[in-house]
Order: sequence, then C-alpha cells, then structure tokens
Amino acid sequence: MSDVVDLRSHPEFTAIMAAFEARYMPEPMSGCWLWTGMYLSMKRMGYGCFTMRPARMIGERAHRLAWKLLRGPISSEDHVLHRCDNPICVNPDHLFLGDQAANMDDRQQKCRHNYGETHGMVKLTEEQVRLIHADARLYSVIAAEYGVTFMTVCDIKRGHSWRHLGLPRNTRYRHPSKSSRLKMHPVPVNRST
Ligand SMILES: [Zn+2]
Repeated sequence: MSDVVDLRSHPEFTAIMAAFEARYMPEPMSGCWLWTGMYLSMKRMGYGCFTMRPARMIGERAHRLAWKLLRGPISSEDHVLHRCDNPICVNPDHLFLGDQAANMDDRQQKCRHNYGETHGMVKLTEEQVRLIHADARLYSVIAAEYGVTFMTVCDIKRGHSWRHLGLPRNTRYRHPSKSSRLKMHPVPVNRST
C-alpha cells in the first residue's frame, strides 16, 4: 500500500526515537509505558499524541508511533489496539494489531467499561476522592489501591470529575524522579466538558 512507510528507515529515525523515548515512563507494576506528552481527551479515546515538525509528524497517535518505531510499518487501515486497556500506554508488548471489526469491538468494550466506571465512581466516597487527589504516588499505584482505572485517577487529578468538590486542577503527571522534565508537557485542558 502506498501509505505504508517504514519509519525505521526514516532519515530522522534516531531523532524521532529519542523524542519518543523522552516522552514515556515505564510503570513497574503494570509494565505499561505511560505517555507523558500531550494526550487527547477521553472523548477522543484519551490516546497520547506526538508532534515533531522537522520530521513532519503532527498529532501522531503515540501508541501507533510506538508500533511503527519498535515493531514495523502499518497502513492507515491497521488499528493498533491496547491489551492493557490503558490508552496512554506505548509499550509495544501491550499493543496488538487488529482490523476495523476488532477496533469496533474494542471501542465498544471500552465504552461499556468506561460507562461502568463512570457509574462505579459513585462508589468512591468524597473522602476517597480527596485522598486520591492529594496522593503523590504514581497514578497507576493509586488506581490499583482504590480499584479504579488509571483514567479515573487522571480525571480526578485533572478536575474532570467530582468538580463539585472544588479541588484544584492538577494538570501534570507526578513522578518523583522526572517531575522537572514533565513540566515541559502540560496536559491540555478539555474545554468541551
Ligand atoms: Zn500497557
């Protein structure tokens, strides 16, 4: 197919790889590689995205980029799906290729999952939400402890959910060793919600 380009033979491969590697952090508990760059709102599936103008890459989905860099070329019809249900994960071992049907299935499952999660959040008490919001540990650690998804923790931290509590918006990832670098990658505020 004409749109299939092998990024591994791209003249800027080394620079693209370096930029990619600077934008994720491995999370030891889940094995996920958490994207620390920009990412899309949950309405748009919450995927990480990657822009590198010199390499003519603008708004590239981070998990698709991971596949292209570390696995091989894919066409625009190939869908890169997550086994780990974590849209900002870019670990190629957690990704697999599927067709449109698999993608629809996956989205439907995730929508159901998210719907359940939204309702499940009601089960969190206001006290727990305040504790989660103030918790300085990795989001995935917090998520595991409270039995909620990574994105639920993100939404609480970012003030997208439980707004009535009036908690300040935390627009950055917190990571003990990399917090200074992460300041360069503020998370966009979803203005439509
Ligand atoms: Zn993962």
